[in-house]
Amino acid sequence: MKRRSFLKLLGGVGALSFTGLTIGCDKKDSVDADAPDQFPKLSKLSGQKPEAVVDVKTGNVQVDGSILMRHSACLGCYSSCGNRVKIDKNTGKILRVYGNPYNPNNAEPHISFEEPLTESYLAFSGYKDKGSIHRGALCGRGNATLESHHDPMRTLVPLKRTSGRGEGKWKPITWEEAVEETVEGGELFKDAGESTYIEGFRQVRDLDTLIDEKAPELGPKANQLVFFGGRGDGRTSFGNRFINAFGTQNSYSHGYS
Ligand code: SF4
Repeated sequence: MKRRSFLKLLGGVGALSFTGLTIGCDKKDSVDADAPDQFPKLSKLSGQKPEAVVDVKTGNVQVDGSILMRHSACLGCYSSCGNRVKIDKNTGKILRVYGNPYNPNNAEPHISFEEPLTESYLAFSGYKDKGSIHRGALCGRGNATLESHHDPMRTLVPLKRTSGRGEGKWKPITWEEAVEETVEGGELFKDAGESTYIEGFRQVRDLDTLIDEKAPELGPKANQLVFFGGRGDGRTSFGNRFINAFGTQNSYSHGYS
């Protein structure tokens, strides 16, 4: 393919992804409110059944009851922007993610929390100037979180190493097994040919015995539990709560302590 043709194709794909919102209209084409059944017709524009159809003349929003829209947070990175998740009620499958027009990370100015959900549909439409003011967006990575969600390699259960470190062999275990081994310890990697006894949380949570009597500054044995978290995305608060209850001083986050 010639470079010029390639760029033209790329431009077309880009335009599709911009105007191909599955909400039933775009900024150029108004929707015929009198059309008897707009959903099937409009779905041909985007390839997906739209969650709502907006009459850009009157601002009337017709919502498809088989679609569930949820306002949530994107964890594509630690900016934690808002997102909107489109879910097929019949299958429970996530169909798309969008920006959240209620969230200041996505839209400036954002829609007031007091506004009804129909406002969020209008924010993606050409009704008056709503689409140009409040239209929430996700970055490319945020849009790609849908791929991560459906990724067949996504880790959904605890994996336990079954060979030497770095050899890349793992087996799935249940959450109950993971908790049991983490708390009780033992020769946890016997299957991998290792006889090392690994202490569990129960043995390590000792606030009376020093790690090393010759180095009291290291504190009690409980400090042997080291918590490495990520950036402050909400989960850290839960982690810190546990760590504080456990009694270790060694809690570190991503890039700061
Ligand atoms: S939308 Fe982009 S910047 Fe915002 S949290 Fe998701 S990945 Fe990060």
